[in-house]
Amino acid sequence: MKIFNTLTRRKEEFVPLEPGKVKMYVCGPTVYNFIHIGNARPMIIFDTVRRYFEYKGYEVNYVSNFTDVDDKIIKKANEEGVDPSVISERYIAECKKDMAALNVKPATTHPQATKEIGGMLDMIQTLIDKGHAYVAEDGTVYFRTKSFKEYGKLSHKNIDELQSGFREIKVTGEEGKEDPNDFVLWKPKKEGEPYWESPWCKGRPGWHIECSVMSKRYLGDQIDIHAGGEDLIFPHHENEIAQSECANDKTFANYWMHNGFLNIDNVKMSKSLGNFFTVREITEKYDPQVLRFFMLSAHYRGPLNFSADLMQASKNGLDRILNGVEKLCDLEKKVEAKGMSQEEEAKVAEAKNQIQKFEAAMEDDFNTADAITAIFELVRLSNSTANEAASKEYVTYLKETIEKLCDVLGIITEKKEEVLDEEIEALIQARQQARKEKNFALADEIRGRLSDMGIILEDTREGVKWKRA
Ligand code: AMP
Ligand code: ZN
Repeated sequence: MKIFNTLTRRKEEFVPLEPGKVKMYVCGPTVYNFIHIGNARPMIIFDTVRRYFEYKGYEVNYVSNFTDVDDKIIKKANEEGVDPSVISERYIAECKKDMAALNVKPATTHPQATKEIGGMLDMIQTLIDKGHAYVAEDGTVYFRTKSFKEYGKLSHKNIDELQSGFREIKVTGEEGKEDPNDFVLWKPKKEGEPYWESPWCKGRPGWHIECSVMSKRYLGDQIDIHAGGEDLIFPHHENEIAQSECANDKTFANYWMHNGFLNIDNVKMSKSLGNFFTVREITEKYDPQVLRFFMLSAHYRGPLNFSADLMQASKNGLDRILNGVEKLCDLEKKVEAKGMSQEEEAKVAEAKNQIQKFEAAMEDDFNTADAITAIFELVRLSNSTANEAASKEYVTYLKETIEKLCDVLGIITEKKEEVLDEEIEALIQARQQARKEKNFALADEIRGRLSDMGIILEDTREGVKWKRA
């Protein structure tokens, strides 16, 4: 299996640290709002990487964090007059709903920064003790980048060039830095901010330290794969390497994988630019599977431009597969329960050839676009050869093969059970009754159940309206 490693800028053969096991860490979102579809790209891509490893029989330990202490969370909490944890817990729950809709498996562990402060204090102390970090007069702790000879190895930046570029810049509040490249491990609290006690000052951690600490705690000093969007290469991942390798004296991650940007009109989708669509908005408009299929239709390392046309093309492609499977399901009930004919066995050999193509594509740095082409070929084979005269063994083989490969991509081929209108109306009435009785917990629970069934409620002046997602 070949993986493009940002560290070496080459495709490399994957060799796990421990045979049959994969340890991977994927940097997760900062939770102060609904996630946008740019944030969903790494979630879908690396979930697919995980699924492929599992298909090949590996046991995957998958860790992905939620950054729940951050300026933007604090700002939003102050605006709403609530504790920052109210904001972060709210958006963690919403993010998990979006992940489920996109069929992204929950991580083995989803650690949160605020619950790992003890580990951060320990690692920062280790770095200070080893001379890799220092405490400024105001209690800020900085990482001493000059102490790590390999600083810049991931982003392929030359540290001296970095310095000359920064030489003139002295940011207010960072006067205590020995060197412009040094970065914050711990910083003093400001008025109205959450803080923790530490040996250096009451304060809170810098952003980078959380991932080094959580990766160590849940996966050990060394991991196989560390991943995230390409905007994280510098400084975030560069700094994670510096912290982890200086603290643990071991190579941190063997393979660094980065997805390209999801763009809109060729500009990176981001919250700060305001050019974003949330996953929630898009999945109310399209089947969430269409969004997943869209993300997998291009190579993960390249940029991907979001457009209604491409979503329509994805919907058409996905429908072709789903209709093919549906036809096989119907046939399975009708055809004679007999073994394959010789002709059918020859077609199975063609199908196996497509499975090989699928695997070869996935093993060439997860080329999901080519893997999808192999599934299309299987559907074409099925449409042209499976009919009412076919044997059950043949029809079942094709159906199970397509289903298995779709599952690797996280595409669900089963038809959702049709929910009857009366069932929905009854639940809506029960919710109205609960609201009348001021039992809001029950009302919310019913709303959640309806949402799981793909029903969206809208409270209007004329009463409650509903539609299917
Ligand atoms: P953030 O919440 O900004 O820290 O981002 C969470 C994850 O989403 C990181 O892995 C980012 O690299 C990734 N990400 C953010 N915006 C985009 C985008 N427009 N395209 C692809 N990945 C993105
Ligand atoms: Zn990270």
